[in-house]
Amino acid sequence: MIPVRSFEGKDVAVFGLGRSGIATCKALMAGGARVCAWDDNENARKAAEEAGVPMVDLNRRDWQTFAALVLSPGIPFRFPEPHRFVRMAQLVGTPVIGDMELFARAVNEFRSVDRPRIVGITGTNGKSTTTALVGHILKVNGKDVRVGGNIGVGVLDLEKLHSEAIYVLELSSYQLDLAESLRCDVAVMLNISPDHLSRHGGMDGYVSAKRRIFRNQGTGDFAIVGVDDVRSGVMATQLTGEAMRQVIPISAEYGLGRGVAVLEGMLQDSIAGRAEQPVDISGAKALPGRHNHQNVAAAYAACRALGLEPADIVSAIETFPGLPHRLETIGYLEGVRFINDSKATNAQAAEQAIRAFPNAWWIVGGRPKEEGIDDLAPLFGQIRKAYLIGESTEAFARVLTDKLDHAKCRTLDVAVAQAFEDAKASGVKDPVILFSPACASFDQFRDFEQRGLAFRQEAVNLVKRRPASQPV
Ligand code: ADP
Repeated sequence: MIPVRSFEGKDVAVFGLGRSGIATCKALMAGGARVCAWDDNENARKAAEEAGVPMVDLNRRDWQTFAALVLSPGIPFRFPEPHRFVRMAQLVGTPVIGDMELFARAVNEFRSVDRPRIVGITGTNGKSTTTALVGHILKVNGKDVRVGGNIGVGVLDLEKLHSEAIYVLELSSYQLDLAESLRCDVAVMLNISPDHLSRHGGMDGYVSAKRRIFRNQGTGDFAIVGVDDVRSGVMATQLTGEAMRQVIPISAEYGLGRGVAVLEGMLQDSIAGRAEQPVDISGAKALPGRHNHQNVAAAYAACRALGLEPADIVSAIETFPGLPHRLETIGYLEGVRFINDSKATNAQAAEQAIRAFPNAWWIVGGRPKEEGIDDLAPLFGQIRKAYLIGESTEAFARVLTDKLDHAKCRTLDVAVAQAFEDAKASGVKDPVILFSPACASFDQFRDFEQRGLAFRQEAVNLVKRRPASQPV
């Protein structure tokens, strides 16, 4: 745990008591703050109380007495409209911050020569993969690395700060919105496509939240920016123009005069402005598809920025085991391959999956995002058939009508069974069932992890239902 001393002796309101909320309370208490914690959900309050966190009903408190309101990133800060506590805090001028800001303040107490280093990673898609990959490369190369933030462990639950430590943090746009003084030694912005728009008041708000990852950077810091989508490309150009930090463009689509590109399994390092010998990275089996090559380019550039040697980075990339629920092959049954891409919660992520595995039997749906799946229309010809599940069933059926053969399955058990029968009967060589939902999971599941496990379970159920005599 990382104690936060910047509110020593002061009252701090903490609202939202999930895992990171409880960690926030403990970090503040360890640093001598008086924590007043609350959550609208009674179960969450109970769990926090059991963990030793003092409850104070924030509805009944005088907000003038708080030095800060620490908000869980899940709670609306600006859009669609600020939570009532945010408004109450703002009314009396109490700063509203997040756990990442508390972490940043703790780091900023170090003298600049002793500061632990921070690698921040954001983007619409690929954050977790890139964060885990950078963590893996640094670990394999003997660094004292701690990986967390929006992935796995909340930032304040990570091990104590010290000069040699490197913190590799996945940063969501919500977290960036609530972090004023975070300075990333290496900031990575992978890509931007529409997602979470209602929480940021539209595309401009979303882009400016993402851009905050570069705040407070100065000489000696690095900005690693994907240039394969227009918005990120513009950001790279603007940052280069500012001339405050070194910008390393990365791409999985274009060769770059300066930067890092991965094209057709070959990594080209031209960070120094001259092209080094291209390196074959096709041995990285857990990172299939062009989108993962963007992640590889970013992770490579981040590790070069931290001073690692190219050969050491590349050999570590090859041993990366991959993350569950991201184009994860969970097994084969009668020659049919089952791929779990439950983490694909938007159309952009599902697009990458469809490109990586063309001609698949595609299971799609859930709670639809505002942008739906309309943008995937040019790819419909690369899909054998769609199996629709969840709340989006009717809406997606309308999009697919006359364009792509589909079945309204509604639930995952029906979809998996039907897709399996069709894939098996097709006679196609190496058929693939691709579960890449392009939607949030909350209509039928707790989260994308539970949804991915449910898909795995349905595949296992198929094995169980087979007659014992049949070969697997
Ligand atoms: P995030 O943490 O940003 O949600 P993940 O690494 O968990 O990203 O990947 C989420 C989904 O996005 C996966 O389904 C994966 O197939 C897809 N994806 C991963 N990397 C990229 C990328 N660079 N560009 C587009 N899609 C990606």
